[in-house]
Amino acid sequence: MGLLDELSDSIASTTKEFGKFAQNAGDLTKLQYDKKVKEGELIKLYEKLGKKYYQEHKEEDIEEIKEITAVTLRIKEISEDIMALKGGVACPKCQALVKNGSKYCSACGAKIEDIFEE
Ligand SMILES: [Zn+2]
Repeated sequence: MGLLDELSDSIASTTKEFGKFAQNAGDLTKLQYDKKVKEGELIKLYEKLGKKYYQEHKEEDIEEIKEITAVTLRIKEISEDIMALKGGVACPKCQALVKNGSKYCSACGAKIEDIFEE
């Protein structure tokens, strides 16, 4: 076998090895991506289940339930503070900012006075 043939074989072999390497890297990237997607789906399913469970058990004496209720209330308080700093209140129907003195929510059209009377 001549030197050129050997070189040619060596290049072919290297190209084949690189092809395998590139395919493995591609497979790995795809598997890692698929894993991330599935992990994201799992988190969403747990969240969905958690919300459902919370709704069905929110009066029960369970530590996490009480924590969720407390955090939810705190978020509501913070939202009200943000709205107050922006010069309005949260629409009780859709939570959009309703500027002080407005009679209707510009986002959902709810009549603010009616909502406050309810
Ligand atoms: Zn609204």
